[in-house]
Amino acid sequence: MSKIRELPPLVADQIAAGEVVERPASVAKELVENALDAGARRIWVTLETLAEGSAPPSITVDDDGAGMDRTDLELSIRRHSTSKIAAFEDLARLSTLGFRGEALASIAAVSRLTLESRDHGSALGYRLVVEGGGIRERGPVSRAVGTRVSSEDLFQAVPPRLKALRSVAAEVSLIREVVGALAVIRPEVAVVLVQNGDTLFATPGDGHLRAAVAAVFGADRADKALSVSGSALGGAIEVTGLILPPDQARGNRSAQVLGVNGRLVRNFGLRLAVEQAYGPLLAERRYPQFFLGVKLDPADVDPNAHPTKAEVRFTHERAVQGVVRQAVAEALRTAPAFSLPIESEGQHGGRAAEPYGLVQADWLTIDTKAPAERPVLHEELASLVPIAQWALRYIIAQGPDVLYVIDQHAAQERVFYDQLRTSTTDSRYSQPLLEPLRVRLTPREEALFHRAEAALTSAGFRIRADGAGTMVIEEVPALLVDTADLRLADQVLASLEAGEAGEHPVSWALDHRLATAACKAAVKANRPLSHLEMADLLRAMAATENPRACPHGRPVILALTLDGVDHHFGRR
Ligand code: ADP
Ligand code: MG
Repeated sequence: MSKIRELPPLVADQIAAGEVVERPASVAKELVENALDAGARRIWVTLETLAEGSAPPSITVDDDGAGMDRTDLELSIRRHSTSKIAAFEDLARLSTLGFRGEALASIAAVSRLTLESRDHGSALGYRLVVEGGGIRERGPVSRAVGTRVSSEDLFQAVPPRLKALRSVAAEVSLIREVVGALAVIRPEVAVVLVQNGDTLFATPGDGHLRAAVAAVFGADRADKALSVSGSALGGAIEVTGLILPPDQARGNRSAQVLGVNGRLVRNFGLRLAVEQAYGPLLAERRYPQFFLGVKLDPADVDPNAHPTKAEVRFTHERAVQGVVRQAVAEALRTAPAFSLPIESEGQHGGRAAEPYGLVQADWLTIDTKAPAERPVLHEELASLVPIAQWALRYIIAQGPDVLYVIDQHAAQERVFYDQLRTSTTDSRYSQPLLEPLRVRLTPREEALFHRAEAALTSAGFRIRADGAGTMVIEEVPALLVDTADLRLADQVLASLEAGEAGEHPVSWALDHRLATAACKAAVKANRPLSHLEMADLLRAMAATENPRACPHGRPVILALTLDGVDHHFGRR
C-alpha cells in the first residue's frame, strides 16, 4: 500500500508559514511592507496585548494605500498570489518589498486574519475573516480607500511556536525594532506604532531621515548624528544616511539600520564595512549606531537569498562595501569635534555632588551641532599655549576662547599612531615572510590586483601573481609580520575591491594593529612633563589627522568654552 500522501492544504500552509512567520515581529514586518508596497502615505500599527498571560500581541496594520477590490482581496490570501511580479525575470527589476505572494497566506494559516480593503474604483470596501485556512465571513463594509489587516490569536493552532515565544514585552520590543527600522528607511511615510492606546512612536513622514530617527530613536540621537553621503561608479551606487559619532557606540547592534533600495536588510559585509570605517575609533566590542540607505540598480541585488527576505546579496559585493566604508570614513573625518561623555559620578572619588564640580556641568562638551560656528580644531590646537600639567596626567592649555584639558597618554597615542601609519607607506619598512602566503584569485580579482600592485608596493607589501591565478604575498609591512596569516590575505583582497571603489588601499586592514602598537609605545600617565614637552606634544597632536580621539576611540580633549564658563557664572 502506498505510504505517500499529499498533505491537506491547511497542513501544507501551516508548514510553509513556518518559513515566513517566525514570531509576531515577522507578522508586523510583512504587513507594514505590504502597506508600503501599496503606496501608503500613513501607516498605523496597533498592538493589543493582555496585561496578564503570554498570548502574543494582536497586530493591526492600517494604511491609506491603493487598496484592493473584492476579487483581489479574495486572491490576496492564496499562496503564491501576488500583484508584484509575473515572471521570475521580474525579480531583476523589483521595486516592491514583496514578491513571493505568501505572507498573507502564511499569516492566515497560523492566526485569525481579518482584512478590509477598498480601492479607488469601488464605492464600498470589502471584508474577509480567514481562520483555519478557510474564509469564515465575507461582506461589504463602508470604509475609506486603503487596507486594514488584523492578525489575532497568532500560533494558537501551532503550540510549539507559541511556546518558543519570549515574554510579551520582549516580543513587543522586537516589533518596535522592526517597525521602527522600516519607518526610518522610509521617512517619507508617516508611521505610528501604538500599544494598548499608548503611542510608542510616530514619525512625521516629511521625508527627513533625521526627523524619523528622532521619532523612533530619540531626539538626542538625531541631534548628535552625522550625515553620510557618497557614491561610486558614476552614481550607480549611492549611500546616504546618518551615523553616530564613535563615543556613542553601544554594546550591541540594535541601533543599526540598513536599507537597500528601500528594503530593510541584514548584510554582514555591509555592517562590517561600516565598522571598519570607524576602525580604531571603536573600542573593542562596541558597535556604532547607524541609519544608512544604499541605492543601486535592482539588477545587482538579489533579494531572494533568504526565507524572510532579510538577507540580500549583491553582484558587486565588495564595491558596495567600499562605497559604504569610504562614505562613513569621510563623515567621521570631517565631523566636528565629538561631544565628550561626562560621567556624573564615580570619576572624582565621591565629590560628584559638589555644586561647583565643573566636571558635572552639561555644557562641558564640544558643541557638535554648530560646526560652522566652531573654529577648526586643528588650527585651534596649533595655537594652544600649555598652562600646566595637572595630576601628572592632564595638560591644561589655553586657546583664544577655550580652556582645554588634554589627556597626555591619549594624545601621545594619537601622535604615534599617525607616525606609524605614515611609516608603513614607506617600503623600507617591509619585512619578508618566512612562509609566503598563497591565495587563489578569481580572474576579476587578478585584474584588480594588477591595477593595485603599485599601491600595494608603496604600502609595504611585496606580492606577485604567479600567472596561474595565484597571488603570493612575500613581504608585508614590518608591523604586520608577526600576525600575517590568511586573514591578512583576505583583507588584502577586500582592499583591492575597496581600491576599485576609490579608497586608499590596505589602510583599514592595518588600522587595528597600528592602534595597538601605538598604545604600547605611548608614555603612560603619571609622568611629569616640562612646558617644552607639553608644547611639543600639542603641536604634534595638532598635526595628526584626527586629534579628537585616541586610536581606541577614547576622547583626548575636554574643552571649556568661554561662553560656557560665562554662562556658569551668570555673566550672560
Ligand atoms: P506579496 O507582498 O509577496 O505580493 P502578500 O501575501 O504579502 O504577497 O500579499 C499578496 C497580495 O495582496 C499583494 O501582492 C498585494 O497585491 C495584495 N496586498 C496585500 N496587502 C496589501 C495592502 N496593504 N494594500 C494593498 N494590497 C495589498
Ligand atoms: Mg507582502
